[in-house]
Amino acid sequence: MAITFEILEEDIAGRLGKIKAGGRSIRTPALLPVINPHLQPVTAREMSAMGAEGLITNAYIFSRSMEFREQALTLGLHRVLGFDGLIMTDSGSFQLSVYGDVEITNMETLEFQNAIGSDIHVPLDIPTHPDADRDQAERELEVTMARLREAKEILGPDAPLAGPVQGGRFPDLREKAGREAGELGFSFCPIGAVVPLMESYRYEDLVSVVMAAKRGIPTSSCVHLFGAGHPAMFALAVAMGCDIFDSAAYALYAREGRYLTPSGSAKIQELHDLPCPCHVCRSHTAEELIHSPERERLLALHNLQVSLAEISRIRQAIQDGVLWELVDERCRGHPQLLKGYRALLNHGGTLEISDRVSKRRFFYRGAESCKRTEVIRFQKMLDRLVLPPRVLVSMDGRAFPGFDIILPFKPPFGPFMDELRETFPIGQSEIPDWDEEMVASGCRGIQRLAETHRECSIAISCQGRWREIVARIVPGIEVIP
Ligand SMILES: [Zn+2]
Repeated sequence: MAITFEILEEDIAGRLGKIKAGGRSIRTPALLPVINPHLQPVTAREMSAMGAEGLITNAYIFSRSMEFREQALTLGLHRVLGFDGLIMTDSGSFQLSVYGDVEITNMETLEFQNAIGSDIHVPLDIPTHPDADRDQAERELEVTMARLREAKEILGPDAPLAGPVQGGRFPDLREKAGREAGELGFSFCPIGAVVPLMESYRYEDLVSVVMAAKRGIPTSSCVHLFGAGHPAMFALAVAMGCDIFDSAAYALYAREGRYLTPSGSAKIQELHDLPCPCHVCRSHTAEELIHSPERERLLALHNLQVSLAEISRIRQAIQDGVLWELVDERCRGHPQLLKGYRALLNHGGTLEISDRVSKRRFFYRGAESCKRTEVIRFQKMLDRLVLPPRVLVSMDGRAFPGFDIILPFKPPFGPFMDELRETFPIGQSEIPDWDEEMVASGCRGIQRLAETHRECSIAISCQGRWREIVARIVPGIEVIP
C-alpha cells in the first residue's frame, strides 16, 4: 500500500497533516521515538501510553540479532515490540557510514523490512557527511539515487518506500535530490545526514540544507528530518516544512545524565528543582532523581515526554497560526539557534508563498519580527491598492485638508486602508512602543507604495524623532512636520 500524506492546515511552511502507511495513520508533525530492541530504557508500550503514534527502529539491528531476527520474521515487528501504531524501519545505512562494512544490499534490506512488517521502508542510502567535498557528495548521491530507482522499479509504485534526500552540505545537490525523489514518485522524503550539523550546533547550515531540499521536494510530500531529536529545534524545522522527527536523543541524553527542556538541556547534577509537569518530575525531587538507581530510565521517560509535548505544542501553534511566535521563543534559547532563525528569516520571500492568509495574532518581538512573512505579504499587497491622486500617509494620526485619502500607519507593516483596520494583520497585531527597526520597516512599506504608485502624489505626516528614519528611507517624499 502506498504512503499517502494529507495536509490539513498550514503556517509559515509548516503543516498539520496526516500520514498513512501500512494501513496506519498518524498526525503530523510527529515524533517517532527510536527504539532498539536490545536497549529499551522506555518500552514501546510506554511510548504509546505517552501519546507516541509511531516509532522507528533499525532493520539492520533486527537482521543481525540472534534474539529478535526470527521473532520479527514470524510474528512481525508490531507484535515483537508490542506496539500497534506506525512503525518505520531504517535500513542500516547509518551503520554502513560508521563501520563501513555492512554486508547487505539495497534489495536485501528492503525485502527484510517488508518481511518483518514495517510500515515504512528505507532504501540503503548513503548519508554523506556535511564536511565531505563536492566530488564525494556527488558520487555518493548518484549511488543513493540509483538505489531509489532500483527500489521503485523492483517493488513498484505502491511499495511503502521512503526516498531519502542526500547531497551533503551542497544546496544545489540537495535541491536536485529532492526533485528527483519527487519525480520518482516518493511521497515521503527523509532529509538525511544532518545529525553532524545539529550535534555541532550548525543551525545556519541546517537551514540552508533543509530549505534547499524543500525547494526540490514536491510540497505534497511528507518530509522527515532524519535524526533530529532535540525539542529546542523542532519549531524551527517545522517552520521550514519538516513533518516528521525521530528521537534517539531522549535516550542518548539520559545515558549522559542530561535533562531535556523545550529550550535546551541541563546536566542533572546541576538541577536543584525539576521544572516540568511530567509524572517523573512531579513524583521526584531533583535530589532523588540524581541518586536514583533508575536514573537513566527516569531521565529517558522525562526526556521523551518533554519531546512529545513540544510536538503537541507545535501542532496547536499551527492550528492557531502562531508558529512564528513559538519559533522566536525557542530560537532565543541558544545563540546558534538564533543564527538559524535569522537565516530562516532571510528566506522570508519563499516562505511567504506558502504561508496562510489569516492568523490568530502577530506579536512583535523585536527586530526579527520585521522580516516575518506577514510583513512581506502586507507590503507586497500595497502594490495592488487603488489610490486617488493625492495621498497622505499619517504616521502621527494628524489629518490635513487637500488630500483625497488619508492612510493610517502601523509599524512594522506600513500604511493601510482604514477599512482594513480590523483585518489581519493590522487588527490582530500587538506592538509595544515604536522602536527604530519597526518604524524603518513600516517606512519601507511607504517606499514600496510610492514606487508602485508613481502617478500619485504622496506626503507623510510625521513629527519628532521618527522624521530622521523617514528622511533616510523615503528621502524623496514630502514630510509635514
Ligand atoms: Zn519531566
